[in-house]
Amino acid sequence: MILYPSGNGVLIEDGFKVAIDTSKRFRGAVHIVTHAHWDHLGAARSGPVYSNVETAEILKVRGLEGIPVDGITREDFEVRFLDAGHIVGSSQVLLLNGKDVLITGDFKLEPDAVVRGAEIENVDVLVIDTTFGVPHFKFPSRKVLYRQLEVFIKDRLSDGRSVVLFGYSVGKSQELTAFLNTMGIIPYVLPETHRVNVLFGLKDVVLRRVPSEPSVLILPPKFKRVLDAFRIQTGIEHVGIFVSGWNPEMPISSHADWYQTVRFIEEVSPEVVVTYGENAERSAVFLRAEGFNAIPLRSGLFL
Ligand SMILES: [Zn+2]
Repeated sequence: MILYPSGNGVLIEDGFKVAIDTSKRFRGAVHIVTHAHWDHLGAARSGPVYSNVETAEILKVRGLEGIPVDGITREDFEVRFLDAGHIVGSSQVLLLNGKDVLITGDFKLEPDAVVRGAEIENVDVLVIDTTFGVPHFKFPSRKVLYRQLEVFIKDRLSDGRSVVLFGYSVGKSQELTAFLNTMGIIPYVLPETHRVNVLFGLKDVVLRRVPSEPSVLILPPKFKRVLDAFRIQTGIEHVGIFVSGWNPEMPISSHADWYQTVRFIEEVSPEVVVTYGENAERSAVFLRAEGFNAIPLRSGLFL
């Protein structure tokens, strides 16, 4: 079996070709997408891709063609999908062909307001996303973070201010909408977020004009410059916060931190760990120090 990195994905060759979240298409490959974040949709932009049912629905919202399947069975390999715990619809790919390989895609072990945590499967080879898979990253639990977010929102609303939560329209926005709904808050969102929210039974209001009373809005990060305009338009101060593992003030991350990464590997118990994505090289060094047989994904990696 030979592995090749491609964008934030991986191409696996072993007689057959399976391309997972690759940045481009490969001739003769079965193309699979783990979730509907744009940085995993390179191949999907130029043709249909296999995915689970939920991700296929989200791809449709994004104007792309997903082929919804529960799994794929071919003569020389089989693919199954497992929950990845990253965002709505996200899956891991379990590739069975004599040697069992689990490709996590982006993943998270801890459940959140809208997804269950990543499922565990014992395999020979674990190909694991290590975006936050270095010891520097330790996130508080969702329980703590949700409490922090609740206080942040309630304090500002009671001061007569509006709150703008910045997060991607697919993924973070559904988690935030689900959490706000549990607080009894129905947020204002953009049409794309709304179309995805509807798929998962989440309650929101499509933002057509800036609300004239203190409210909670969920907007993509690129809207950060509009807060002053919102204030001038309504006379209400709008307080914005990035909800992301990259923001130490509100690190509600859709990825596993270092400690979840280690726990996940221990439970999967593979013979070989292949790190990929951001921090792959550094993560492999730290994981080897923990006693795992870890190597970073590189082109032509033979296993
Ligand atoms: Zn992602």
